[in-house]
Amino acid sequence: MKLSQYFLPTLKENPIDATVVSHQLMVRAGMIRQTASGIYTWLPLGLKVLRKVERIIKEEMDKSGALEVLMPTIQPAELWQESGRYDAYGKEMLRIKDRHDRDILYGPTHEEVITDIFRKNVTSYKDLPKNLYQIHWKFRDEIRPRFGLMRGREFLMKDSYSFDIDEISAKKTYNLMYETYFKIFRRMGLKPMAVRADTGAIGGDLSHEFHILADTGESAIFYDKKFDELKNFDVAEMQSLYAMADEMHVAEKCPIPESQLNSRRGIEVGHIFNFGTKYSKSMNASVMGSGSSNPEGSSERVSGAMEVSNKIYPNMGSYGIGVSRVVAAAIEANHDMNGIVWPREIAPFQIALINVRSGDELCDKVCEEIYQKLSAQGVEVIYDDTKASLGQKFATADLIGIPTQIIVGPKSAAAGMVEVKDRKSGEKKEVGIAEILTRKDI
Ligand code: ATP
Ligand code: MG
Repeated sequence: MKLSQYFLPTLKENPIDATVVSHQLMVRAGMIRQTASGIYTWLPLGLKVLRKVERIIKEEMDKSGALEVLMPTIQPAELWQESGRYDAYGKEMLRIKDRHDRDILYGPTHEEVITDIFRKNVTSYKDLPKNLYQIHWKFRDEIRPRFGLMRGREFLMKDSYSFDIDEISAKKTYNLMYETYFKIFRRMGLKPMAVRADTGAIGGDLSHEFHILADTGESAIFYDKKFDELKNFDVAEMQSLYAMADEMHVAEKCPIPESQLNSRRGIEVGHIFNFGTKYSKSMNASVMGSGSSNPEGSSERVSGAMEVSNKIYPNMGSYGIGVSRVVAAAIEANHDMNGIVWPREIAPFQIALINVRSGDELCDKVCEEIYQKLSAQGVEVIYDDTKASLGQKFATADLIGIPTQIIVGPKSAAAGMVEVKDRKSGEKKEVGIAEILTRKDI
């Protein structure tokens, strides 16, 4: 992409309403613009990152066996009246009336919709387990939308919902998601941590929050130092170690000594939850059990799932990832004084090509060749071919955080060389143009 043809409205100053670094940098780097309080437009650079985050999530969810669906953003009030949450949910739910005066709402979450789909289309225990997910917009009318995308009103979420025959099977699904979440965040070049979370009124102990470690994180988390030394990511081992969200950690009751405890800041980017038969029962979503393996007939109880006359209410779980919040969290965890420092896996471009003297015949020719050849090899290059000052070009490349900069100046180009700078370390080296074209040294 040539910068002269791109849409990258960068800013030198921090916007006054932005108090956290991810919000400041996303606006300054021309990734987003606020359209209304807590509601944002994604500009091309921001959208590229969002799509990369989405793709990693999608690939790992697919690998786990989950199936992608797409539910509507608008939902009928009736479904929520059935589950009993219509009145309970409170003001975060955006309630709307359509032209026929019917109550509808913009979905803050989708347990009711998916349970309705399930009960109308799944009839036999043989169809279980099922895990259905979507990546879609949610609206929550947060009382205080703040910190840009960290707490927006409209935000992108990956939400999945699982249906299992019993508690044992549900726990397996839960653990598979736990493992999948680690894979997802590590693939993004981020440092995830799973902590036990409050299960609130529903009870049970199956709930974990996933946090990205960042000094600027909103939440305090506490965990056994052994976590940092783990080589393999064995679910049972990880879950056996002490790791608690703030509200779950009570210093006096902590089973491990303080010297063994890490206390860090984190940003909650995911939440996994098993809630048993809460929705399957309240919304009467059942499947037929296996009659033949049921010598006692209708009185048989399958562990964890209530059965009435061979009807089984599936054991359910839900698993969320704040996709748009992940983009902000990645910046909170990866930035410096000059701007964003993208992990390579989610960087909008891999290479920022800087023409030190646009208009100079040799510089233009070398840049054009590098740009064309690398692009043809599938490398995403943002080429600063503008007439901006060199200082501005460097500042922009640093601000938007592209991992590798290739700097083409008249002197070195005449000697068949360019400069390659690593955004993260700041290290620079001279590299032959031929090596660049064959990607030997970048
Ligand atoms: P929080 O505790 O931050 O309010 P939550 O517990 O209400 O979040 P969940 O219902 O568990 O959120 O949603 C799943 C994920 O969606 C969260 O882990 C978070 O990453 C993301 N998320 C929730 N609310 C917002 C928001 N207002 N803006 C951006 N992302 C959000
Ligand atoms: Mg949560």
